Amino acid sequence: MATEIENSAATFLAGVSAAVRTLPRYNAGLSIEYVRKHYGVTEIAKLGSNENPYGPSPKVIEALRKAADEVWLYPEPSCDSLRELLAERLHVAPERFIFGNGSEDLIAVLTRTFISAGDRVVTFAPSFGLHVIWPRSVGAEVVAVPVNDGYAMEIDEVIAALEPAPRMLIFGNPSNPVGTSISADDLRRIIASLPRETLLVFDEAYLEYASADSSYPDFLAVLSEAEVPWILLRTLSKAYGLAGLRIGFGIASTPELIDLMDRVRAPFNVNRMAQVAALAALEDMAYVEDVVERTVTERARMRAELEQLGFRVAPSLANFLFVQAKENAGELSTRLLTKGVIVKPWTEPAYSDHVRVSIGAPQANDQFLEAWAEIARR
Ligand SMILES: *Cc1c(COP(=O)(O)O)cnc(C)c1O
Repeated sequence: MATEIENSAATFLAGVSAAVRTLPRYNAGLSIEYVRKHYGVTEIAKLGSNENPYGPSPKVIEALRKAADEVWLYPEPSCDSLRELLAERLHVAPERFIFGNGSEDLIAVLTRTFISAGDRVVTFAPSFGLHVIWPRSVGAEVVAVPVNDGYAMEIDEVIAALEPAPRMLIFGNPSNPVGTSISADDLRRIIASLPRETLLVFDEAYLEYASADSSYPDFLAVLSEAEVPWILLRTLSKAYGLAGLRIGFGIASTPELIDLMDRVRAPFNVNRMAQVAALAALEDMAYVEDVVERTVTERARMRAELEQLGFRVAPSLANFLFVQAKENAGELSTRLLTKGVIVKPWTEPAYSDHVRVSIGAPQANDQFLEAWAEIARR
């Protein structure tokens, strides 16, 4: 029998919005500790979360050690030093930047600032979970436009989905989980068709990996020509190796967008250590270039070996591969765990036979390839 306390909670809980009660949970992936404990394996290849296995520049660690004495002080609330550095480097006015506790924090802030219950939001499928979850958390309806059989974005279909006008068009480029990119002309076409009521959010979390490919466009330049409201998102979690510290940033077409988001975000949303680390990381670009080069080399090797085994792999510009298995991805991924290999099985119904595997250090990649060759149905 329910106690009185449970009954009163039930009444309270019935008042929670349907949007929150039916919200899917973000699949945040498994930790090394969890897999060690539950699968009894010691050597873990953590290839489920697109982290940079080489970690940040040694200069970042040095800067963090020095900054540790100051953790009793609140962080700088608007990341002024970082703002200055990036404004200068990217030739963008300082007041067009916003910083977040990871760029996922900024996706949440964007949503709370610009989206209301009943609004439409358009993204691509397969989707980055938070591009769907955050808008849905405030009661928006999310429409996802699927990529074609060659894993490319169908621009005509994206444009068709802009009617009726959504409040937001948000997508990752390169896409997570697919790893493919649209072209500069594709983006221009999207911009030309964008209704006046729509904010374009271009999430470039994997920029550093993609721009190792000389054909990858300068999308900040393309956006800068546009006369529509847009926000470009970037992160220090991937190539810069700072996922554990949580810092990302956004650049807006105009300071008015930032001004509104600034009211909605938590005042101290980027912690002191993250700011120190980001500054040091951005000052050691040679290190990042080295990380990217190793990753790109390993990406080519992993893709070739998977194709050799007879699997279809999307042509990725990022630090992961989207692989079509010949069975349910969830079941395959669970079997890979018994070999200490963590990957991310995709769960969107049309892609439930796809696995996303991050490009790790060579040894982890070998562990993955050996386990896959042994375990995956062919
Ligand atoms: C990893 C990722 C992010 C960034 O995450 P943070 O760690 O919160 O900065 C944002 N968007 C996409 C598409 C990602 O894959």
